[in-house]
Amino acid sequence: MGSFITRTSCPCCGSVDIVKALACKDFTVSNQIFDIMECASCRLRFTQSIPDQTAIGPYYQSDSYISHNDTDKGLINKLYIKARNYTLSWKMKLLDKSAGNQEHKRELLDIGAGTGAFLDKVHQSGWVVTGLEPDEGARKICFNKYGIQCESPENLFKLPSQKYDAVTMWHVLEHVHQLHEYLDQIKRVLKTGGVALIALPNYTSNDAEEYKSFWAAYDVPRHLYHFSPQAMAFLASQHGMNLESMSPMWLDAFYIAMLSEQYKNKKDNLLAAIWNGFKSNFYAFKDKKVCSSLVYLLRND
Ligand SMILES: [Zn+2]
Repeated sequence: MGSFITRTSCPCCGSVDIVKALACKDFTVSNQIFDIMECASCRLRFTQSIPDQTAIGPYYQSDSYISHNDTDKGLINKLYIKARNYTLSWKMKLLDKSAGNQEHKRELLDIGAGTGAFLDKVHQSGWVVTGLEPDEGARKICFNKYGIQCESPENLFKLPSQKYDAVTMWHVLEHVHQLHEYLDQIKRVLKTGGVALIALPNYTSNDAEEYKSFWAAYDVPRHLYHFSPQAMAFLASQHGMNLESMSPMWLDAFYIAMLSEQYKNKKDNLLAAIWNGFKSNFYAFKDKKVCSSLVYLLRND
């Protein structure tokens, strides 16, 4: 049996100046309530009393937890798959642009590869790819579908130094218990001048403000941390990387609003979700620091 981790200081900066921001329910698996704390120093929010690595497994056991499956049942899943195809191409372009043209064949490490759709896309574009994925079922699907063999995440610590032109984590870092260890490893395996693209939900977005404890991207206890541009800039600097830019993920506002409406009203409230998605993006259009999700580009200078 695993146990629960109750923190007395901020997992990002170590400050003891932490206060409860709100309490959220786990709507997808356990129905348990978890407090969300905010650090007054670096502004990271984090889930309090999280299950440790040996206890978190059961919190991922759900048919509706979509990240690892390809079901197209229901409107939300159908829209999700359409959006995912669009997003795949968008991510590929962002990666290509960020990594720049190189003389050599470029190499990517994708951490939290899921069932491998992005790995395959990048591989098809001529890169050499390595994928890490904790879920054995997802690794099997990736191999059967794309012929790409993902490795277990522990192997991150064994990968050669300065090997990769880019490391990607698409909505993954918020799930990682070993936050600082992972950032150290990312820095280590990147070539000098290489990039890490890290996509994260943003709790300072308008949709987070709108839905408060029903905001689907809190996703407790699976999301251990809740980032903001300010917290991410601090975390990057702690690990000797430079937060070079941020790219808004416009579709996430709609997807998160749809899920949040389900949690709040116990039904698909599509019109309200679309309205709140537009509203959130309207504010983010003026200031991308309040976009629902952001891709942070960290450069290993
Ligand atoms: Zn802090």
